[in-house]
Amino acid sequence: MTAGSQRDPAAAGPAGPAAGPGVSEEKLVAALTAAEKARLLTGADGWRIPGCDAIGLRAMVTSDGPAGVRGTTKDERRPSASLPCPSALGATWDRELVRELAAALGAEARSKGVDVLLAPTVNLMRTPLGGRGFECFAEDPVLTAALAGAYVRGLQQAGVAAAVKHYVGNDSETGRWSYDARIAEGVLRELYLLPFEACVREAGALLIMAAYNKVNGFPMTENAHLLRDVLKEEWGFAGVVISDWHAARSTLATALGGLDLSMPGPDGPWGDLLARAVADGAVAAELLDDKVLRLLRVARRVGALDGRPAAADGRRPGAGRPPAPAPAAAPRLVDPALLRRAAAASFVLLHDRGGVLPLRAGAIRRLAVAGPNAVHPVIMGGGSAGVIAAGISTPAGALRSALAGRAEVSVAAGCQTWQSVPEPPAGSVRDPVTRQHGVRLEFRDGQDRLLAAEHRTSTSLTWWDGVPAGVGWGKPGRIVLAASFRAAQPGPHLLSCAGVGRLRLTADAVTVIDGVTAVPDDPVEAMTRPGELRARLWLEPGTDTELRAEFWPAAGGAGPLAVRLGVAPAADDEALLAEAEAEAAAADAAVVVVGSAESTESEGFDRSTLALPGRQDELVSRIAAVNSTTIAVVNAGMPVLMPWAERVAAIVYAWLPGQAFGDALADVLLGAAEPGGRLPVTLPTAEADCPVLHAAPDEHGILEYSEGLLIGYRGYDASGVAPRYPFGHGLGYTTWAYQSVDCPAAVAPGDDLELTVTVRNTGPRPGKEVVQAYLAEPGRPAGRGRPRRVLAAFAVVRAAPGDLARARLTIPARAFARYDEDRAGWTWPGGRYTVHVGRSSRDLPLSAPVRSGRSPGVRSGSPPGVRSGSPPGTAPAGSG
Ligand code: BGC
Repeated sequence: MTAGSQRDPAAAGPAGPAAGPGVSEEKLVAALTAAEKARLLTGADGWRIPGCDAIGLRAMVTSDGPAGVRGTTKDERRPSASLPCPSALGATWDRELVRELAAALGAEARSKGVDVLLAPTVNLMRTPLGGRGFECFAEDPVLTAALAGAYVRGLQQAGVAAAVKHYVGNDSETGRWSYDARIAEGVLRELYLLPFEACVREAGALLIMAAYNKVNGFPMTENAHLLRDVLKEEWGFAGVVISDWHAARSTLATALGGLDLSMPGPDGPWGDLLARAVADGAVAAELLDDKVLRLLRVARRVGALDGRPAAADGRRPGAGRPPAPAPAAAPRLVDPALLRRAAAASFVLLHDRGGVLPLRAGAIRRLAVAGPNAVHPVIMGGGSAGVIAAGISTPAGALRSALAGRAEVSVAAGCQTWQSVPEPPAGSVRDPVTRQHGVRLEFRDGQDRLLAAEHRTSTSLTWWDGVPAGVGWGKPGRIVLAASFRAAQPGPHLLSCAGVGRLRLTADAVTVIDGVTAVPDDPVEAMTRPGELRARLWLEPGTDTELRAEFWPAAGGAGPLAVRLGVAPAADDEALLAEAEAEAAAADAAVVVVGSAESTESEGFDRSTLALPGRQDELVSRIAAVNSTTIAVVNAGMPVLMPWAERVAAIVYAWLPGQAFGDALADVLLGAAEPGGRLPVTLPTAEADCPVLHAAPDEHGILEYSEGLLIGYRGYDASGVAPRYPFGHGLGYTTWAYQSVDCPAAVAPGDDLELTVTVRNTGPRPGKEVVQAYLAEPGRPAGRGRPRRVLAAFAVVRAAPGDLARARLTIPARAFARYDEDRAGWTWPGGRYTVHVGRSSRDLPLSAPVRSGRSPGVRSGSPPGVRSGSPPGTAPAGSG
């Protein structure tokens, strides 16, 4: 018998195995055999981490985030609250709001039986084309760290563990499974690691997710330097390193490199192989124990060892603490009023020439609402972050009801941007068996025997687990969607089937589609943009067309199984554009909502262009030409080009705002709420202006981060290129005067710097201001590849018209430090720095010199002072 393969009898309680709240995690580990330990370290299925009765450990459930809690299924019968996407949260610059949202998300997770939320994403927006940029908070590490920390705290306060992702260098999607990000150590330390470090050392994140990609030659699931030396040793991380899904691709290198948990399961490179490696001595028994110990610590915190979640501070829960994690009959979704407030707080007013906003409802008798996203908004990005929203308010619908009885509202899509044919509108399809609205779903085996059937209301369906045996990748069975479709208008319609594999569609028993789609490179695309086959058919409104879509998942396919049936009238863009233009010409004001299409921004691929899809630029230009009060609303999670920016009266950047989009937009446009956002990412005039654009690895799979520290506004500052709208910019509905900055003249190395900034609300409304402090190094940093100045602290303040507000900002000690690659440690070079204060990276009316002391040597490890920004510092100072 080899070490660890036998249960330790001393650890087992008198009545059987060791278990219960009073037993230490160390004792529980000692009670397990090596095989049992190894079994705990691979997922039980797609989303569950296994339990173990012998030690009273129940399975823990993971779910994707960060913009909602999907749960273990994606099913329209079990919807989720859809939050503003993280770039929208980045735009709030509001730690307290992010904490509040995350706490509410945590409560929803608990009510769905979820223990671990795979969120937040704290990678940086290195390139505006990054497919998952919408899932990141910002292009800046300090803003990211501050908001991510607030997110982790809120979530964990609700008794749910955060899995902060994707550690590290997963800042783009092209080749994400294998590219080797070559990032200098100093750049890693000062930019990309900083948000992770803050989440671990300041917010106490319980899990860190190791990314797919390599960094400096080593896959992140095997990267001993970054997992063991930096994360676990330097930062003292005592939680679990969880693999990204299927990212663990070796047994020994991952086990030795610092990975603790391989997901999903039950297959994977660990299991018995890991137990054998321990038996062989290739992996030390203590290392296996350490992994299990980490897992049990997380289990204790989420209540998986005693049935109750522990408080965030580690104390035992008492009355009023979150309930035990049994899924509630009715999940407790995030309050829609909070979602609406948060979305409005994220909207950025980029300009408002002539002060057309907020619209004066009494003065507008006729409002033209136009744009594809006014009717079909894109409320979230694609991929694992997607949820089925509990209800969507569209801009067109919300403006109509907000103005009902006060103004006439016309609605015109203006053009069509979808890349896959949309689901048929609710009410246009019926289940041919039950005649209920929706479709009949069937699973059939290779002999056409019915395995299971149910009624569904959505025609776009996804599964990770739970399809009957006999159906799946490369299996003979098939998935069938049957529906009776009734057209709303006569004319040509597009019918489509999407899925990875063979697809057949019959209409009234006539085959109109029969073909095979390609297996994509990235398995997530089986869900986000599977191949689609189309047919064109003339349909009349009076009669039903019997549709039957059949899907045989491909051999060689992987990832979630997804199938979709689409039906839509074939669009004529010329007619749509002309209609929108005519409506705008006849209205007092026009609101044109443009932006991403459904699969423009997604996990699994990067965008190829910053241009808006379809003919949206033309649409905005034509509307602006006929109506001088045109307000453009941009519904995109990341930067887009706005060649018409100078021609519209106002622009509101609305991100991917979650389910409350329409209501929040009506609040902002009609003045019930202020557009509270400031840009967390620079908006360029042209693609060529971006410091980093395409992020494709070279032919050897290498992705050089050759720009070093100069991403985002730092890159624009270095090149002297003016952005269209700078990082930090946003107007709100009032104006502010920056009156003074009170800043000590000197700071010692290793000390934080406290400053107070006094601003006055000089406008007509109460408002929110985001006071930003940037730190400029001594000398000429640009020549040394160093940024001219960097965001060092910020605070949200609010004041009534005429009132002063004092923002208290803390510039952390780390802002004055540099990572010395040669000596592998932090150093304070010292010298005369300048603190610049203002309302964006390019609007900095106040400044103060500050002398930083020089540290004699290098501080190895990670010294304190990573703290990003400031406490939520606002002190209303009354009027005066
Ligand atoms: C994504 C992760 C996600 C996981 C589970 C991966 O492909 O990169 O962010 O949490 O899938 O859905």
